[in-house]
Amino acid sequence: MKPVVIVGAGLAGLTAATYLRRHGVPVRVFEAGKNIAGLARSERDAGGFTYDFGAHFITNRLAAAVGVSASCRAMPRYGETVWLRGRTYSYPFGLMRSLPFALSAAVAKLGAPFRRTPTTADEWYRSAYGGKLAKEVAVPLTEAWSGAPANELAASVGAKFATSLPRTIMLKAAAAVTQRTVAVGYSGTVPESPHVWHVYPDGGIGAVCERLADEVRDAIQTQSPVEAIHVEAERAVGVRVAGEDIEAAGVVSTAPVHVLPKIVRGTERLAYLSRFRYRPMVFVNVKLDGPSGLPDVVTWTPGPETPFFRLSDIGAGLPWLVPAGKSLVTCDIGCQVGDATWTAPDAELGKLCVAALDKLVPGTSARYLGCRVMRTPLAYPVYRLEYEDDRKRFEQGTGIEGLVSVGRNGEFAHILMEDVYWRTRRKVMSLIGSTAPAEAVRGCP
Ligand SMILES: Cc1cc2nc3c(=O)[nH]c(=O)nc-3n(C[C@H](O)[C@H](O)[C@H](O)COP(=O)(O)OP(=O)(O)OC[C@H]3O[C@@H](n4cnc5c(N)ncnc54)[C@H](O)[C@@H]3O)c2cc1C
Repeated sequence: MKPVVIVGAGLAGLTAATYLRRHGVPVRVFEAGKNIAGLARSERDAGGFTYDFGAHFITNRLAAAVGVSASCRAMPRYGETVWLRGRTYSYPFGLMRSLPFALSAAVAKLGAPFRRTPTTADEWYRSAYGGKLAKEVAVPLTEAWSGAPANELAASVGAKFATSLPRTIMLKAAAAVTQRTVAVGYSGTVPESPHVWHVYPDGGIGAVCERLADEVRDAIQTQSPVEAIHVEAERAVGVRVAGEDIEAAGVVSTAPVHVLPKIVRGTERLAYLSRFRYRPMVFVNVKLDGPSGLPDVVTWTPGPETPFFRLSDIGAGLPWLVPAGKSLVTCDIGCQVGDATWTAPDAELGKLCVAALDKLVPGTSARYLGCRVMRTPLAYPVYRLEYEDDRKRFEQGTGIEGLVSVGRNGEFAHILMEDVYWRTRRKVMSLIGSTAPAEAVRGCP
């Protein structure tokens, strides 16, 4: 039997590989980088601080599905706060308690039946949250992480992020009763519930991918970028890696979709994907002596006075990643590859963030111990209005038989790890019928 070739050994690629192998399908996994795990990996420095590529929080349900529950600890705290013009508002109840925000939201709700269906993200936020919350919080945050004006982004941006208010209230209430960090907004494919809370592996988020890789280690080849995916008569038939052509029964790609038109040979069907864009991001991990003093594990900063739009207090949420008596704050800054932020020296970015942190928590700079900066050109898929119809078309599949595109960048979707896991399993199922022996499919989970 020819193998199914998997492009990339991040969470999606490894999920696909283990799932297919459990169903008796031979697989080969090619990873371009030196290491597996893609975005879901952690690094530890000599001082005992562990860093993710942007803070990652997972759920007990994903940990159980992958088989890493035993090495995970429950997060002792999780909460989100918005910092606006020197004031903090807990999310969502603090914002709802603010009279100006609440009034504006109520007016928006009353006017909803008379408005046309929103087309842009800007319109969506105004109709869902009211003009004031949209203008002061939702729109600036969206523009910061996407790098595009909210009136040039599709309404689906808002819809992707929204957990309904009644559900949020129910989940927050469950968290208060059970004293667990019940997850809100971390999975859309399988239902959120009071039984799904935040956990995190002992040594870093990379443990999730390492566990999956254990099952298919012999099939993984690192430092092996897939240079071409061969398509004949609109069917994926093989790949080229390091100049060698390899026949395949199917191909599962986790590569960013705007790369697919460059590597798929034998069809022009995916040419429309070349204009899809991702937002690069710089993560400045600020190390501090003593507690950070931030109000919550996650603090959103939509105002123009800070270079970052999100802060994650790792020491508060995941204390086992930070040495005793210290704290670690991850500052997320949106940018473009090659711009002043992307190219700034690490020390300069550290100073910039600490100066801004001083505005939130006076005295932070006196406790600054240094920083570790991480950069990725592919953090967020940007849902630009100009290619929204094409994005919806791509949601239906590649249109090429035997070629499945999965994962956060491969689906071009704002999905977190649990969604990547379940959606990848569902999507690669289509390859099983045609390639697995029937007896291997029967009785497999
Ligand atoms: C800032 C940020 C914060 C996040 N926070 C959370 C969180 O709190 N909780 C959560 O659950 N999720 C979070 N996520 C999402 C999570 O990181 C991703 O959903 C998940 O890691 C995506 O896995 P993936 O396999 O789809 O992609 P990736 O991790 O990008 O893996 C793709 C792999 O494919 C390889 N590749 C690409 N092209 C080729 C090629 N041609 N040949 C061979 N290999 C190739 C790449 O090198 C890479 O290793 C966050 C993401 C970001 C950006």
